[in-house]
Amino acid sequence: MKTDIKLIQDGKRLDNRRLDELRPIKIEAGVLHRAEGSCYLEWGGNKVIAAVYGPREAVPRHTQNPLRAIVNARYNMAAFSVDDRKRPGPDRRSREISKVISEALENIIIVERYPRASIDVNIEILDAEAGTRCAGLTAAAVALVDAGIPMKDIPVACAAGKIEGQVVLDLGKDEDNYGQADLPIAISPRTGQILLLQMDGHLTLDEFNQALDLAMKGCYTISEMQKKAIMEKYQKVEEVK
Ligand code: ADP
Repeated sequence: MKTDIKLIQDGKRLDNRRLDELRPIKIEAGVLHRAEGSCYLEWGGNKVIAAVYGPREAVPRHTQNPLRAIVNARYNMAAFSVDDRKRPGPDRRSREISKVISEALENIIIVERYPRASIDVNIEILDAEAGTRCAGLTAAAVALVDAGIPMKDIPVACAAGKIEGQVVLDLGKDEDNYGQADLPIAISPRTGQILLLQMDGHLTLDEFNQALDLAMKGCYTISEMQKKAIMEKYQKVEEVK
């Protein structure tokens, strides 16, 4: 999209970030008492809560799989999360995001251990400022660990993109609106396996490889923050004992 906004000036972005710099991220595990596992995450201007229930018997029964658990991730944007009030309830975009997050998580949770069960992952976007699917999946992963759901790894997500012809890490709101491409990914950091990859806009093969590499690096940095948040929660539990 053509715009007069200069997204990069003197090598710096609108919010003063370097091209390969993430927005500030804060992660807290175990913030809700009723859910089996939960996480609160702030990522730039995004604020996200993830809550996990289960494994529990899947209902209605025809949804049950006799060989494994089903994973139901439900991504929801609060009406007050964006500038103009968003019409409440599911829409095409939130159904798509719920589906891709469910599929990413299904590939990392050891679903064979819970036949006929469902694992429900609620992702509530309280404040949205671009990159909410990555923020939502990253929070969901911490909530799943907090719920004690067995997984092969702790998945993590991050995006890279292209603005003003340059590949950059973690697009902010204006960069997402006026930039040329966005490439959100989720990975298993232990193996480097890609669990989710979507692309909006156009990249050459070279730019795509550069963006993928940068997003991977972002994932590894955020993965350490996830682990720290989990350790902090269980350190507190130890201290109370
Ligand atoms: P993501 O949040 O994963 O980047 P999109 O690229 O679809 O997903 O959305 C980018 C941003 O656009 C969102 O983070 C949010 O700030 C904004 N947005 C999305 N849907 C709406 C909506 N219905 N109304 C207003 N803003 C929206």
